Amino acid sequence: MHELSMAQGIINAVLETAEANNATEVNEVTVEVGRLAMINPEQLEFILGVLIENTIMEDAKIVFEEIPAEIECNDCNFHGEAILDDSDHYAPLVKCPECDSLSVETLNGKDIVVKNIVIEKPDDN
Ligand SMILES: [Zn+2]
Repeated sequence: MHELSMAQGIINAVLETAEANNATEVNEVTVEVGRLAMINPEQLEFILGVLIENTIMEDAKIVFEEIPAEIECNDCNFHGEAILDDSDHYAPLVKCPECDSLSVETLNGKDIVVKNIVIEKPDDN
């Protein structure tokens, strides 16, 4: 399952950073989710909720930020945010908003990235 490996990757990244900073607890995690990452955010959230049990990020609030798909059109050289045809949720068609071309290079929007984490340290009191 795609979402399971994504979730595991997010958790590993967060825990690694938290441990490197001697965190006692992770309070908040911001995850950037590309529009083209082809994941189901609700499913990802659910799996994360299960996997973080009994870790220091158990009570963390997880915030998802959607990143738009950025493209460069091979036909009209448009550069910017693409139009997505979501009729097939897991493999959206990426279109140029200027000329409707499907011949585009995707520059951004495919990744899942841990953008920010808020941790608690022993000396924070
Ligand atoms: Zn175009």
